Amino acid sequence: MGACASCAQASTDDVPPPAEADPAAAEAALNTKGPPPSVLSYPIGTPGQPWGESERKSWYQRASSTQRSYEEDVVSRVMALEDRFEVVLYGRLYDRYSLFAVRSKQWDASKPCCLVSGGVHGYETSGVKGALLFLETRALDYADTFNLLVLPCVSPWGYENVQRWTPNAVDPNRAWGALAAVSCDEANAASALVASLGVEKWKCHIDLHETTNTDATEFTPARCARDGTAFEEDEIPDGFYLVCDSERPQGGWAAAVIDAVRKETHIAPADANGEICGESVSQEGVILVPFKKVAVCACIADADFATTTEVYPDSVTSTAEECNRAQVAAVSGGLDYIRRSAL
Ligand SMILES: [Zn+2]
Repeated sequence: MGACASCAQASTDDVPPPAEADPAAAEAALNTKGPPPSVLSYPIGTPGQPWGESERKSWYQRASSTQRSYEEDVVSRVMALEDRFEVVLYGRLYDRYSLFAVRSKQWDASKPCCLVSGGVHGYETSGVKGALLFLETRALDYADTFNLLVLPCVSPWGYENVQRWTPNAVDPNRAWGALAAVSCDEANAASALVASLGVEKWKCHIDLHETTNTDATEFTPARCARDGTAFEEDEIPDGFYLVCDSERPQGGWAAAVIDAVRKETHIAPADANGEICGESVSQEGVILVPFKKVAVCACIADADFATTTEVYPDSVTSTAEECNRAQVAAVSGGLDYIRRSAL
C-alpha cells in the first residue's frame, strides 16, 4: 500500500539505512503551505530496528506538548448541543479526558443509522471541527430520516498534543475490528459505544480525516523508525480525496460525496502513475483499501456505505474554514445520496 500516513497504508518492507535528513527544512515545512520537503530519518531509535519500550518513552516525551484545549475546543461545543441532541459520555481516558458522543434525541429502531467520527487522528483538526460544524449546522436536517451518532473527537490526547498516535505510540486508525494487530483505549471505547447501541445494520459511516504535510515530515518518518522499516517518501496529494473499502466500493455514493465536496474545496488529481498515495485511483478522488484488513475506523460499523475523508489543509489555496466546510459537505453529500437513492 501507499505511503501517505493519513489514513490507510500498511508498511511491511525491510530496510536499508535512511539517508540524512535536513532538520531545518523539516521544521520549516511544519507550518507552511505547498508540497512538503523530503524527510528520510527520525531522531529516535536505530535504523532498521523496531522500537522497544525506551524508544517509545522517548517518543512520548518528544510528542507531549499541549498545544490546544480539548475542553475549550470540543467539550464546550458538545455541551452546547444538549438542547438539540442527546450527549453521551462513553468513557474516560488517561484520568483526564471525558469522551463524548452526540446522538439523535429520538432514536428510532425503524430508521437507518448513520455514524460520523472525527479526531481518530487527533492532529487532523478539520475532522474534529468538521464533525462539530456538521452537528451545529446540518445534522438536524436529517433528523426525520436517520438516527445519527457522531463522535467528534475519538482521540483527545492526540487533539491537544497535535499528534497522530496515542501516548503509547499506537496509530489509532489501525486498531479497529477483529483483524487489528494493535489495540488502543481510544478505539476500544468508541467500538464499545457503537456495539452497545445494538444496531443490526448500520447504513453509513463517514470517518473524517486529513492528509497533511506533517505526514511526510513527521508521522511517516516516525512510523518507519518505530517499525524498523525502510523510510518512505510521502507524496502528499494536493486536494480532497476519499478512501473507500475495496470490498464494498459504493462508487455511485462516493461520486456523490466528491461532487458535494467539490463545491467547497478542490479534489486531488491522480499523480503521473494514476495513483493517490500509491493506490490506484478507482474513480475521481477515490482510492480503495480493504478496510477490515487494515483495521481502519471506517470498518467498525460494517456499514453499507463507508468511507474515510481526506482533506488537505496545507494546500496553498485552502483555509482551515474551507476544510471544515469540506468535511460537512462530505457528510451531507453522503447522507443526501442515501436519502435520495438508497432507502
Ligand atoms: Zn487520519
